[in-house]
Amino acid sequence: MSRMFVPGPVDVAPEVFAAMSKPVLPHRSKEYEAIYQRAAKKCEDLFYTKYRVFIGTHSGSGMQETGIRNLVQKDVLCCVNGAFSDRWYEVATSNGKQADKLEAEWGKAIEPEQLREALKKKHYEAVTIVHNETSTGCESPVKELCAVVKEVSPDTLIMVDAVSSLAGTKIEMDAWGIDFLLTSSQKCIALPPGLSLAGTNDRALEKAKTVENRGWYFDLLIMEEYRIKNSTAMTSAVTLVYGLDFQLDRIFAEGLDKRFARHAAMSKRVYDWSLERGMEPFADPKRLSKTVATIKNTRELDISKLNAFLLERNMRIANGYGSLKNKTFRIATMGETQMEDVEKLLSSIDDFMK
Ligand SMILES: *Cc1c(COP(=O)(O)O)cnc(C)c1O
Repeated sequence: MSRMFVPGPVDVAPEVFAAMSKPVLPHRSKEYEAIYQRAAKKCEDLFYTKYRVFIGTHSGSGMQETGIRNLVQKDVLCCVNGAFSDRWYEVATSNGKQADKLEAEWGKAIEPEQLREALKKKHYEAVTIVHNETSTGCESPVKELCAVVKEVSPDTLIMVDAVSSLAGTKIEMDAWGIDFLLTSSQKCIALPPGLSLAGTNDRALEKAKTVENRGWYFDLLIMEEYRIKNSTAMTSAVTLVYGLDFQLDRIFAEGLDKRFARHAAMSKRVYDWSLERGMEPFADPKRLSKTVATIKNTRELDISKLNAFLLERNMRIANGYGSLKNKTFRIATMGETQMEDVEKLLSSIDDFMK
């Protein structure tokens, strides 16, 4: 019974809360280290990587900063096509890096040809790409973009933010050649907010060794030093890691491919519903997100009134992001959400429109 059709934080299953309500263990104890190691191993399967996944005690934005501070000494190319990709650019410049923007109109993806041209003009140490722009409901063709980087500028590292899609859509870190892949706990993984995960390959760690002023809290080399001892340099978010350990079992019990298919079917249902009612998706039809549908509000629904109406039925959706407020609305179909929840939501919106 999912209620929150917002793109994070999402509903958390009661069983997950129960798994988290265990006595807090010291983070430097054999018992905790065993749980931590087990959870980290399962994360590797979720990321389709043979390398490693760091578990951060902060939200996903901290991993955007980690990537910038560790993998870029000077030049980085930021693919910007919405609010979260633009934030990554700001993270880069505010950390003193020379970031260039490669831009696409909101709702469009950066296409492979566009990236090819940019990489031919100038050499970059790294590129940043947001896989699923939560502000516009647009999915980037990350696999194809990675192939372009490998072809034109093979030593350029690839950083991907998959905060609103990893665990909801298939993203194969090693096969696609992503060097640094990040996500947060409170979206498709359906845990409470507070954890972030970053798949990091050997090439990324080698690069970090050459980068100055990595800081301390976000230093990948310190993280690695402790990770191999099944621990963290600072206090771990112990109860959230219990939840992660438990939730990953639930995710694998469902089966990753089944889970991805469930999300694709639910988002398609939302798009079909909106088109039937004369409202188009905001994003490029060939790049539609499978976890958050962003719909043009061409029927000029009063979104705050709609949400007040939905709240009486214990549900809520998200308004458009930033300047897209009221011009669009967003229906996320992440985490625990099931098709029957989506049907209930859509029929309630129909009731509101009557
Ligand atoms: C939510 C979101 C973020 C920010 O993540 P936090 O966990 O809130 O720091 C970054 N990128 C994308 C694509 C997001 O959807």
